[in-house]
Amino acid sequence: MRQTNLLVTTLREAPAEAETRSHQLLLRAGYIRQVAAGVYTYLPLGRRVLRRMEQIVRQEMESAGAQEVLMPSLQPAELWRESERYEVYGKELMKLRDRHDREFVLGPTHEEVVTALMRGEISSYRRLPVTVYQIQTKFRDERRPRSGLLRGREFLMKDAYSFDTDWDGLDQAYQVMYSVYERIFDRCGLKYRAVQANAGAIGGKGQNHEFMALSEIGEDTIAVCSLCGYAANLEQVEVQSGAAPHRPDFAGRPAPERFHTPAQKTIQQLEQESQLRPQDIIKTLIYTGGGKTFAVLVRGDHEVNELKVQKYLGCGDITLADYEHVQEAAGTGSGYVGPAGLSVPILVDAAVAAMTEAVTGAGAEDYHLRGVVPGRDFPLTQVGDFRNAVTGDSCPQCGEGELDFHQGIEVGHVFKLGTVYSEKLGAGCLDADGRTQPMVMGCYGIGISRLLAAVAEQNNDDQGLIWPQGLAPFTVHILLMSVKDTAQRELSEALYARLTSLGIDSLLDDRDERAGVKFKDAGLIGIPVALVVGKLATEQRIEYMDRRTGNKEVIDIGEAVLRVSSLKSAPGTAFA
Ligand code: ATP
Ligand code: MG
Repeated sequence: MRQTNLLVTTLREAPAEAETRSHQLLLRAGYIRQVAAGVYTYLPLGRRVLRRMEQIVRQEMESAGAQEVLMPSLQPAELWRESERYEVYGKELMKLRDRHDREFVLGPTHEEVVTALMRGEISSYRRLPVTVYQIQTKFRDERRPRSGLLRGREFLMKDAYSFDTDWDGLDQAYQVMYSVYERIFDRCGLKYRAVQANAGAIGGKGQNHEFMALSEIGEDTIAVCSLCGYAANLEQVEVQSGAAPHRPDFAGRPAPERFHTPAQKTIQQLEQESQLRPQDIIKTLIYTGGGKTFAVLVRGDHEVNELKVQKYLGCGDITLADYEHVQEAAGTGSGYVGPAGLSVPILVDAAVAAMTEAVTGAGAEDYHLRGVVPGRDFPLTQVGDFRNAVTGDSCPQCGEGELDFHQGIEVGHVFKLGTVYSEKLGAGCLDADGRTQPMVMGCYGIGISRLLAAVAEQNNDDQGLIWPQGLAPFTVHILLMSVKDTAQRELSEALYARLTSLGIDSLLDDRDERAGVKFKDAGLIGIPVALVVGKLATEQRIEYMDRRTGNKEVIDIGEAVLRVSSLKSAPGTAFA
């Protein structure tokens, strides 16, 4: 491809709303453009990287025996009612009506459609196991679309679904997909970690893992054990409560004492203004969820784990209560809420129950209490693990190692669904004894567009993007320094023709621009190898430039063609 023909405009500055490196660089280098919040166009460079990824995904899925299908985005609401997810999925589900007023959704995922498909196609165990996959656009009305492709409202996903007669079959299918995912992410040059995860709205009680791209800007926190290799999403990590809750003898202990704490609504303010240690303070948080208002108590140096609370209460999403609910429950605004005298049920984290005495809000503006005794000044009837693990907590698996924490971007997710969907949608098949059994399902997703951004997030420097060879939009970038110089022009044309005839995807910068502009754009676009055709053209020599290391080497063009050909044969680089 000649750069004079390529639809690419590089930008000096990234639009202000782009906060993450990948978002800024993908915009600046002309890979994507925003159409609406969380909705993007892929320009030719972006589309090419997507195609490389799709090709790797297809090769690996097919080699594991999965078959490609293509299911619709437009899905009848009826199917979602059958699975009982029409309401449960919440506001992320994009709903619409056709001209006959029939309800539809834009698919955020495809368990319903695929299960309905298999209920029609498969009636006997003889046709199982089967795994189908697709690479397809998904729609989710995310509360906060952010970071460009990392959290879109319309995005590309590879989703796969396995169907088996029993759980043993599912275990095998799961294992196969797990290994396929490792190969895919390895080939994409991603630094990642597979972690145990929570099943979320997708349902199913079985085991599941998330594949996390390691990145400071990741929204997820991963806990890793220093000893036994345990790795899990923080939401999922059980905290070992250790010693039994402290049950002091209250007799003779003084009553809590009120002290003045104006404008000290946060733990940090109390720490600074009143010289308190966070671990001596109790945070009282008022939540609403499942139609109820309740309080959760955690230590000042701990954070509430909402998922654990949801599981304990057996309800869906919970949210911090609004001003009215807080006032009603606590008689004061947030910042001064305390557990004593609350009119709502109180869930107490085990670390709070183990405190001898503590500082809490006084339930009155501008005041806190010291000397509050758990079990005396508030009830310890609902004690449990309601907080996130922190540094220093021991590993829930081996009990000995310490937990280490990292940030991650979830790029893939594998679930053992079991029979949740096949039962609800009536997808059964006859087993060897002639009895009808619900098919046992697994589902496996990769956020293809998110993966593109995650790779960009991990591979860049102050000049711009640096693609791993297997994903680069072109294998090589030929930089013609001066179009006015005949020898340079002829040599770059010859090189371009030769590489193209060998089936190597090359981008020839044949624009009438200054060398500085060309280097700048090449640095931004991030093709891993550049061949610089400059003054040495008369000697049939060029500079071979490695984008990642910045190394330059003068070689003759025969050698350049050889080197670039060997790049092409690296796994995953050939364009389909
Ligand atoms: P998250 O917790 O980030 O919202 P999820 O648990 O909702 O993700 P899944 O339902 O497991 O995601 O979807 C499968 C994959 O699709 C995810 O692993 C992720 O890579 C990708 N994905 C999910 N939501 C988005 C989104 N809004 N934009 C881009 N990719 C997404
Ligand atoms: Mg989500």
